[in-house]
Amino acid sequence: MTDSVKKILNERFGISEAEITQLAGYGNNNYRVSTASGKFVFKTYEDRPDLRGELEAESRILEKLAAGAPSAYPKPVADIDGGYSTVIREDGISKYFRLLTFVEGDILGPKGISGETAYSLGSFLGKMDGELSSLRSAPIEARRSKWDLQYHALNRPLIEYIENPQDRKYVEYFFQQASFFVDRELPFLRHGLIHGDANEWNIIARAGKVAAMIDFGDLCYSPIVNEVAIAAAYALMFAEDHITGASRLIAGYQEMNPLEEKEIALLFHLIALRLSVSVCNSALAAKTMPDNEYAFISEERAWRLIRKWAATNPLRIENEFRQAAGFEPRRTVSVGEDLAVRRKNTSRVMSLQFTEPIKMKSAAFQYMFDDGGRSYLDCYNNIPHVGHCHPRVVDAIAKASARLNTNTRYLTDEFNEYTTRLLSRFPERLDKIFLVNSGSAATDLALRLAAAHTGNRNVAVVEYGYHGNTSRGISVSHYKYGGKGGPGKSDAIIEAPIPDEYRAGPEAETGKRCAEILRERIDESKAGVSAFIAEPIVGCGGQVPLAQGFLQAVYDLVRKRGGVCISDETQTGFGRLGKWFSGYEMHGVEPDIVILGKPIGNGHPMAAVVTTSAIAESFETGMEFFSSFGGNTVSCAAGNAVLDVMDEEHLQDNARDVGGYLLCGLEQVTEEFESCGNARGEGLFLGLELVRSKDGKEPDGGLASSVQNALRDAGILVGTDGPHENVIKIKPPMCFTEENADELLGALRQALKKHERRTETK
Ligand code: PMP
Repeated sequence: MTDSVKKILNERFGISEAEITQLAGYGNNNYRVSTASGKFVFKTYEDRPDLRGELEAESRILEKLAAGAPSAYPKPVADIDGGYSTVIREDGISKYFRLLTFVEGDILGPKGISGETAYSLGSFLGKMDGELSSLRSAPIEARRSKWDLQYHALNRPLIEYIENPQDRKYVEYFFQQASFFVDRELPFLRHGLIHGDANEWNIIARAGKVAAMIDFGDLCYSPIVNEVAIAAAYALMFAEDHITGASRLIAGYQEMNPLEEKEIALLFHLIALRLSVSVCNSALAAKTMPDNEYAFISEERAWRLIRKWAATNPLRIENEFRQAAGFEPRRTVSVGEDLAVRRKNTSRVMSLQFTEPIKMKSAAFQYMFDDGGRSYLDCYNNIPHVGHCHPRVVDAIAKASARLNTNTRYLTDEFNEYTTRLLSRFPERLDKIFLVNSGSAATDLALRLAAAHTGNRNVAVVEYGYHGNTSRGISVSHYKYGGKGGPGKSDAIIEAPIPDEYRAGPEAETGKRCAEILRERIDESKAGVSAFIAEPIVGCGGQVPLAQGFLQAVYDLVRKRGGVCISDETQTGFGRLGKWFSGYEMHGVEPDIVILGKPIGNGHPMAAVVTTSAIAESFETGMEFFSSFGGNTVSCAAGNAVLDVMDEEHLQDNARDVGGYLLCGLEQVTEEFESCGNARGEGLFLGLELVRSKDGKEPDGGLASSVQNALRDAGILVGTDGPHENVIKIKPPMCFTEENADELLGALRQALKKHERRTETK
């Protein structure tokens, strides 16, 4: 190849004596040319439409820039015909070449954009963009490059090349966030010519300061802030602190070419876009040019930053950048003011979490973001099952609601697809489904189905169970009717004691004993039983797994007495327990009716009742069952997307693996602290029971509340529950990772150390 380079240099540029070495590059072959009269870079290009016009235009722009600052830019060298791009036709193929002066200095390269160079890079770019803003170029303005952030959507087809679905989702997320929060703003921003690729391999420093830029191949006419976003993305990839790592760059830019507040507001998303574009193209390169090292040079760093970025509150970044640019940080409304409005508008029975409530603004996967710039690791919210704002679910909901949002009185593909898919996750016997909008509505319907089938309305329940907020829901929820302000048990309810192995001791055959008590009570009541309803792990009871043997004995008993068995899987279903898709499987039983809620729509209000044909037929009395929203096209689209993500990201397996890891960690914590009585649960549905002493097992609700608030201060959200509010409840989105588990365990230890001691000294 160097021979043909020599030939062209000789014939077209009059350079006869030269030493030629190849340079690293993305797609093209580039060479350094050293001659007695100076050094040059010889660039080669594959032919494509508009190439020649673009090369000529780029060269003209470089010529103008270099005229004002000769050592800061490569200068194009004209060939013997006076042109800046040389074309040679060989075997019917056009090949393009270009010669530029070589810019002396140190390419930042592997050293990256460090703190010292960042400021000077900012001022360099600011000054350059200021100069570029007075230039126009029709060929460059006509360009539509996938590297130009305003055309980020051109990269969407590349997402599929990202092999790991757990990573792919971040890129989908950031592209989608941009479609909501960036794309509509971009047309209204200041536009100008920008370099468009200020990465460390295109930046040249002299005496520790940025002194030149090279490789103008991505020159584009774009919102000017994109220049800063691209440089900031690379600066952040090298920064130790991803919050402050671009601040000096922005301060330097601001000095020369002040950014506007609305531009700064978009930087978080634009940086995310650059990272996403970068990894998409690395994924493509892995298929198309696996041997080109340069194509993967930023890949690992970009991924690391993408994962951190997704866990970072966008407001925190905006405020950091605002300060760097000399603007005041955005002010937040005080919690007091918000609380006053809330108190005015609604009742106190709608409670708030934590001693000092949090005002939430946004969320991503297992992270939530408040209005003060803080990020929280969400270890508590099982409703966003596949992750907060998962792009697949958001996309499905948005598209479905833009197309058709109608009820179940029409035939729709969405309903048929969703019900078929959902039923396929249950045993063959459970072959009929009803769709509603809340777990409470599902409980209500389940009890109606049971009553219709058995002709009885008495219901057997488990102590501390919760099944819904409707009158009927409350009437079967001991946690509510038997709790604070509860009306007490109605005559139609028969209670089983909670078979809690921790409190009863495993040797006591808790399961059998509690089932036996229920048998006595059913038989005493003489009114028979319509249904038995229970959760496989009693959430509101404090994450208490029903003792083994209990459900088997009770299901047997209830069926013998003519009743049906309802498993409330609102919390425990949909793969959360890891080893099993539904919680009842853990107990080796098969219910007659299953209640599904919370996770199935990832936050979209959806719930379902699954039952047998026989029970469904008993309900066909002539009265229609209709739910205005249940099973509508949007809900079904959301539900389908949740199933897709669960399968693609293997989230049930993740719940098993990460949940197992976390439970081991909690068991260790339990050994270390006197106040930890019991760690329990399955998959990502876990509890840690806090007590005054291991032997006495006296519940310590005060400590649980202190620990919960301390964790919140450390940026971690957990719940508390149980009859004494002494159980730390852990049920995070299913994408929770081992690193997340480690973070939780570390903070939990800290909180216990601090608050256990305080309790002792009281
Ligand atoms: N059953 C169980 C086990 C629940 O945890 C809940 C909600 N916490 C419900 C039913 C009621 O669901 P919803 O709030 O959607 O009405």
